[in-house]
Amino acid sequence: MAETYSGVRESKSGRVNDYGGSSKAAEESFRKGCLKRADRSFAQGLQCQQINSMAALMSLEDAVFIAHSPQGCIGCTSLAVDMYRVGQAHRGVKHIKNPHIIVTNLDQKSVIFGGEKKLRDSVQKAIERYNPKMIFVFASCASGVIGDDIDAICADLQKSADAVIVPIHCEGFKSKICASGFDAAFISIQKYILSKVQAEKKDNLVNLFAPVSISYADQKEMERMLGLLDIETNYIPFYSSLEKIKKIPSAAASTSICKVFADEFMNSLEKEYGIPYSHTVMPIGLRNTDKWFRGIAQVMGKEKEADEIINREHERITPLVQKIRERLQGKRVFICGGTGRSFAAAALIDDFGMELVGLETPTYDDDAQVDIEYLNGIHKDFVVDIANMQPFEQVNLIKKLKPDVFIGVPEWAAKLGLPTTHVLDMKRPTMGYDGLIYLGNKIADQLENPGFNKKLAAHVRLPYKDSWYEEDAFKYIVGGGANV
Ligand code: SF4
Repeated sequence: MAETYSGVRESKSGRVNDYGGSSKAAEESFRKGCLKRADRSFAQGLQCQQINSMAALMSLEDAVFIAHSPQGCIGCTSLAVDMYRVGQAHRGVKHIKNPHIIVTNLDQKSVIFGGEKKLRDSVQKAIERYNPKMIFVFASCASGVIGDDIDAICADLQKSADAVIVPIHCEGFKSKICASGFDAAFISIQKYILSKVQAEKKDNLVNLFAPVSISYADQKEMERMLGLLDIETNYIPFYSSLEKIKKIPSAAASTSICKVFADEFMNSLEKEYGIPYSHTVMPIGLRNTDKWFRGIAQVMGKEKEADEIINREHERITPLVQKIRERLQGKRVFICGGTGRSFAAAALIDDFGMELVGLETPTYDDDAQVDIEYLNGIHKDFVVDIANMQPFEQVNLIKKLKPDVFIGVPEWAAKLGLPTTHVLDMKRPTMGYDGLIYLGNKIADQLENPGFNKKLAAHVRLPYKDSWYEEDAFKYIVGGGANV
């Protein structure tokens, strides 16, 4: 019998989320099967998978999002709300809306007596207030620990509701890999929405899965590129709708903008509906954009056309890349981002002749191994920190490695006075051939204008003792065999 995927990324063998050491050692150890799962005896907080489940769906039209949790669990949604509002502005929406978020506010009493009534009341309120087409119910650590049966409650409420009610099992404690939250959301979409859909096939339709962190400029660039191959794009679930979700089984193929977004879902769409998919890289930088574009073209049988387009785009873009290269050549870089972005950014800096000295990313697995092999081929040995957050390790490494520039989630590096460029920029272009030029110029501009971060560093004290910077950055990683 086929194994059903649980949505917990750690359940797949060969996936490691705590490692610190050299890139060459990581590659070698993984190849030999010696890179084992480790843990940290001290950690500075993780991103919770519930926020990823919520953020992935939060821009869907006619939807209500109910967190069956204490109030604090939805604190991080403010980031996704901001992205949703900015995304509307970029799309020309005049009357900008907030997403409809309800929290059931589980408290001490609910933990003892159960939270069923609160959840039922919340669904009722969602229907009365917003008359939605979809209601998503997100589990939390608290609802999971007390054993509220959200599936049964939603099934019972569904009998009298017009809206589709979708329970999502994203209890924070289930996974240390926040991308598990994406998987939990897609598993429920498949089970509660797609299972009832009878779809007619469309030969030129491609599902393009995109997370919340993709800017509108990047969406347009991806759609432009696919349009050059006469492909119609079903862009989901970001800024989409129930109708667009129901179109998923009609597609001739699927691809994703991010490596850890919808990869498991695309796999199950292939098994369930026979929809082939391309799973390559995030289209950041010349090499990755080519690879991503060729990947989906190959699945659609349009490789020849893709090669012609790639040649034309290279002719257009190469002189511009060369100009940026003159500004960035030889600069030493530290990169920190999600699994898809950090590896993509590492490939991007090669376009500009920069040198990679450190890379921080949440997971290491077969996909990461392919990227590390490639990066080891073009860079000298660099430091790899496999970590979900953990700023104390990052600042320790930055102090020691002394990069010229930091690319990624910039808060901590900026406080050290380094020029920083956010690679997870959901408001500006990053991807495709045009995104490459924008991002390259942005990195160069930051390097030439580091004043803000320098002033910030002069006025901010990080919470670590000087002695920490003398310590081994990875001293709290325990186990794992190959960890150093
Ligand atoms: S679901 Fe759990 S890990 Fe996530 S925010 Fe709530 S308490 Fe924290």
